[in-house]
Amino acid sequence: MANRKAILISPELCTGCRACQVACKAWNQLPAEKTKFSGNFASPADLSSNTLNKVRFVEAPSEDKPLRWLFVSQRCMHCEDAGCMKICPVPGAIYRTKDGAVATDPDKCIGCKLCSAACPFDVPRYGKDGKLSKCTMCADRTENSMPPACTKTCPTGALTFGDSKELIAKAKRAGYTKVYGENDLGGLGAMYAFKDAPLLYGMKENPKVPEMVVFWHKYLKPLSLISIGGVAAATLLHYAFVGPHKDKEGDDE
Ligand code: SF4
Ligand code: SF4
Ligand code: SF4
Repeated sequence: MANRKAILISPELCTGCRACQVACKAWNQLPAEKTKFSGNFASPADLSSNTLNKVRFVEAPSEDKPLRWLFVSQRCMHCEDAGCMKICPVPGAIYRTKDGAVATDPDKCIGCKLCSAACPFDVPRYGKDGKLSKCTMCADRTENSMPPACTKTCPTGALTFGDSKELIAKAKRAGYTKVYGENDLGGLGAMYAFKDAPLLYGMKENPKVPEMVVFWHKYLKPLSLISIGGVAAATLLHYAFVGPHKDKEGDDE
């Protein structure tokens, strides 16, 4: 996508203050969650339907100190090749914004949870209503020319929002040899400026959309949409020639 926007995450600048987590909850009106210590200082320990971003705390080896803390902000990666979009059977329930983000429409989501199986990064979570809940790259802010809430709040510049290509060039000028997400899955909307191997930061190497999702998207999904179209056409024909459906005794209201 030519004018793709992205969030560049620079763990070297992150202090682990978690202001990005609070900003996300504040903007999206999500409640706090009770957490418990799981042997790691990340809090909460995982994403949830009420926690759309979190900071991963990594204890890395160091030559001159007992250990080195790495703080890695984590959320939906807004993949160009998005498994969740490929597998979703409902048109428009997961959609691409004009900035290239992968956003959701809760009114259309039927809660089938197929997107969970199709995501290489284990991002989708579901609320009490069963519907998909994940970072939308603050689509409601960006479409009104405001940056995502987390990037606006980050006090250290560890999160920056802008044109994807410009962010990559800026990171490379700053000496980051590897920009995770530059080419992965066709390009990610959440990219990382790393000095060390991505694995050290807890990132997945060579992420891929599962084969069964590719097969579904290529061969079976078009058939299923034709079937849905067939049912809709049959319903219209029935209405035109037979008239509106009348409830029978025993039908639910
Ligand atoms: S990270 Fe997962 S949920 Fe986000 S766009 Fe990629 S496939 Fe979809
Ligand atoms: S972009 Fe918006 S929805 Fe996504 S993590 Fe940041 S604040 Fe939350
Ligand atoms: S607000 Fe910025 S510095 Fe603080 S935890 Fe989030 S990314 Fe790190």
